[in-house]
This record gives sequence, structure tokens and C-alpha cells, in this order.
Amino acid sequence: MERLKVFSAAKIRTMDPGRPEASAVAVSDDRIVSVGTLESMRPWLRRLPHDIDDSFADRVLMPGFVDPHTHLRLSGTYMGLNYVGPIDSTDTQGNRLQGLVDRAAVLERLRVLVAERSAGEGEPVVAWGYDPGMQEGHLDRKLLDAISTDVPIWVIAYAPHIVYTNTPMIERIGVDRDSRIHGLGRFPDGSLNGWFIETEATAIASRPVRKQLFRRGFGLKSLELQGQVAMASGVTTTADMIYGVESFRREWDDHQSAIDAGSLPVRMLMVPFEGRLRKEFGDDFLGFYETMKDKATSRLSVHGVKYVNDGSYPSMTLRLNFPGYLDGEEGLRGEVPWQDMVDRMLPFWKNGIQIHSHANGDETVDMTLNTLNAMQNIAPRFDHRFTIEHYCISTPAQAKRLAALGGLASVNPYFVHYRSQIHAESGFGPDRSETTARLGSLVDAGATFALHSDYNLVVAPMHPLTAAWIAVNRLSEDFESVVGPGERISVERALRAITVDAAFVLRKDDVLGSIEPGKYADFAILDDDPFEVDPSELKDIPIRGTVLGGEVNLVAEA
Ligand SMILES: [Zn+2]
Repeated sequence: MERLKVFSAAKIRTMDPGRPEASAVAVSDDRIVSVGTLESMRPWLRRLPHDIDDSFADRVLMPGFVDPHTHLRLSGTYMGLNYVGPIDSTDTQGNRLQGLVDRAAVLERLRVLVAERSAGEGEPVVAWGYDPGMQEGHLDRKLLDAISTDVPIWVIAYAPHIVYTNTPMIERIGVDRDSRIHGLGRFPDGSLNGWFIETEATAIASRPVRKQLFRRGFGLKSLELQGQVAMASGVTTTADMIYGVESFRREWDDHQSAIDAGSLPVRMLMVPFEGRLRKEFGDDFLGFYETMKDKATSRLSVHGVKYVNDGSYPSMTLRLNFPGYLDGEEGLRGEVPWQDMVDRMLPFWKNGIQIHSHANGDETVDMTLNTLNAMQNIAPRFDHRFTIEHYCISTPAQAKRLAALGGLASVNPYFVHYRSQIHAESGFGPDRSETTARLGSLVDAGATFALHSDYNLVVAPMHPLTAAWIAVNRLSEDFESVVGPGERISVERALRAITVDAAFVLRKDDVLGSIEPGKYADFAILDDDPFEVDPSELKDIPIRGTVLGGEVNLVAEA
């Protein structure tokens, strides 16, 4: 160590239970040397030359927030398309886009897009952002054929688990009534309804529009834009939870380029999607981890493996136990047959590669727990950190079983506020909607959990203090009803779930998630102390930026 940089602040909330508060933190290079007061760290300051930075004299520092499940690059593929979503959004240039209130408005927008196409142009009309819950029901082939039976129309949901198409688009994709593909939607008479559901079917549906989706340079553009969103939300670490879906090499290179250029101010963990891993590397999929080990840095590394085993919450394609959906819909399982799940996961389990398994509905949570249970019987492991991703609709009994098996949950709490009222009426019914994200049950069961955003693929922001606010208050969108009041958790527990417990879920709590000597100097810069503001105001605390490895990144003043 040659020189120390010392940040002094109005207050530092360390999230280290032994020494929870401080007012100064000394950093050498990118790591923390000492935490306490300028007075207490004198033995260091006497020995080493140092600079004191008091620009945070009026601010509160917390550990940089960890959002353990996002899609910063992938969301850029969709943000470059025509937008038909329900909420205001931005394109990849950062331009503001207005939301469309309902299905009629979306159909009208598609009609205009079809009309605007210059004659003879062979390209389909391609759009992103549809939300069957907020925009009043799914689209289908008949509705889209009513707009055009000549121009192919292709619409992917905001939560991109479902593609809607018209007849000419179905022809271009090259499937018909006799096709046997997992996730091909049908009307009751067996004819195709224009839906392509889940990863395999949406990939097939995406082939004819690859050029629009994967435009030159979109990945880098998207990372630059989303990197700023992350920084403005206080996020310093995140994990891309579907690495390889376009290209293992291109995705890695874009992240490396953005980090080298200083335009992606986060630490990024890349979590390979199991289906792509096996497709690309055959039986040698474990070899990929070896080759990537040499490339890992403290900013970019490969971590774990990801499975997607049912559909999405906002697209209403998850799998439910009895009594199921209000209207008899069934949702969809992922491509890996559930009876094969143990065999598919075992190589990762036995080799110590952490499994992140997407389960939105309670039927899928049951299957996931059965799989974890079976693996524990075959090859018992401690500290495996098997994580259920999303954990949206669950029961208190499942929380206890998850804890008993040593599993973790990475939970999306945003739907409690943004969607519990929508899905009480549409899809899951009042009981399941109100008890979405049972965090209180996880606390009671003794399970460790994180809060994540899944940004930008589920019609919710990436804003950990909002996630914590929802977890503590469980206010629905009318700002009056408290839904599932017994599932509320304490401020302390919610803040752990966006810092040190989220780092635990990513197996990085030895170096991230709290302000302790030896850990990376990653901080969120806040105006107020989340432990002291009224819990109803947690989400409104202004965030000034982050410190990442000792380097300050400030949000531009408006
Ligand atoms: Zn996701």
C-alpha cells in the first residue's frame, strides 16, 4: 500500500453487524483498509500518506447495492424495436417513449406501423413491450390478421416469454398445424393461435427477425445506457441471468469493451443459460468454465448456471398448483422435461457450480424443491447456495422446505406493488396475487434471500431502495391496500437483501455486500439514512451515485 484515500461522510451504514455505523472509510487502490472514524483509523493514517475526501460530508454511504438478477444487454435487443408497452420507456438512445393504455391502443399502433411501411418492403413489423395483464388480454393470430394478412407482424411481450404473430409471420417462421414444437400455442380447435411461448419456441419465432433484434452494436449501446441506470440506482454489482442466449463470445466481448471504456460502472457476473451451454459445447460444457476462469477479473466473471423452468409473472405463463388460473389458462413449463431435471442438474451440482433455477409459480417451486431434495439424497452437499430465482408465487410450507434443504431465494418483490391488483382480476386471482413474494415466510423459515429487479424485462424499474420499500410496506398500486401484511419484513432485513445477503446469493459475500476491511470499496451515495427515514419514504431517498472500487461515479445534476 502506497497511499490511502479516506472518504468521510455524515454517516456510513456498514451492514457489518459487529460495527454497524461509521463516519470514515479508508481505501487503498480498490479495497477497504479501515472503517470507523478519522480518529479511530489513526494507526493507519500515521503510517501511510493519505488524502481525505470530504465531498460526502452531507451524505450517507451504504455498501453498493447488489441486484443479483438483471438482463442489461438483452433488454437492449428489445429496446431498439417499435415499442407497444404499457408504461413509459426509453429507446437505446435514451429517448422517452410513451406507454399505450390498452390492447385497442396497441392494435391501432400496429395498424399505423403496417401502413407506414413503404410498398414492396419485405421486412416484418417487429414490436416489443406487450403486457397481457396491464393491456387487457393476450394478442393472437386472429387479432393480428385483422390488421394485415400480407405484412408479417411480430410482437414480443415486455417479459419476453411469449411472441405473438399473424398468419404471414407464422408462414415465414415455417411452422404449421402439424409442427410439434414445445410452446406452440393453439386455439381450442387445434389450429395455431400465433403464440410462441418460452425459450425454445421464441427462439424459433425470432429467426426471421434476427436482423432487427441483433442490430450491429446494440449490445454495447444497451450496456452503456443500462450501466447509467444501474449507477443512478446505487447498484455496483449485478448478474446477467441468461448469458449465452445470443452468443457467449459476443456478449462477453461487449461487457469487456464497455468496462474498458468506463461506460459500465458495475461488477458483472455472467450466468450461463444451461440450454445454450449444452447446445454450444455438447458434453464438454464444464470445459467452458475452465477456459473462462483465466479471463475472470474483479469486474467481469462467469458464475453458476441458469435454468428457466416455467413462464413469466407479467406474461401470465407461470405454472400454478390447484386451483390454477382464474380463466383455466395453464401456463407453460420450460424446455427441460421436469422428469429429466435431476440428471440435467447433477453435473453442475457435483462440480460445485452454483445452480440458479427460475421458478415463478408454486407448481414449479414444488418441482424445484423435489429436484434439490433428490440431488441431496444422491450427493449430499453443504453450502451449495442452490437458488430459486423469482420465487413469486409460493407457500409458507415451501419456504420451510427450501430452508430445510439449504436453498436460497432471489425474489422479485416489485410485482407486489406494481401488479398485485392487476392479477387479482386477471390471471392468478386475489389469493396468489396478494401473497406474491412471501418474504416474511422466508424470514420465519430462516432462509437467506435477495431482492432483484430482472431489469428490463418485467415491466418494473431497477431500483433496490424501491424493492426494499415494497418488501417493508407491501403497498399495492393504489397506495392504500397493504397486501399480504404478514409477509412484510423489517427495514434491516430488506436492506440486507439488497446488499450483503444479495452478495451471499452470488457467492461474493467474502468481497462484497458490506463495508468491511478487505472488501471492495463499493458504496452507494445517499442523501438520507434508510434506517432513519420513515419506512414509507425509503424509495424516495435521493441517490447521488456510487463509488466502485474507490472510484466515484456521480449522477449528472439535472
Ligand atoms: Zn430474468
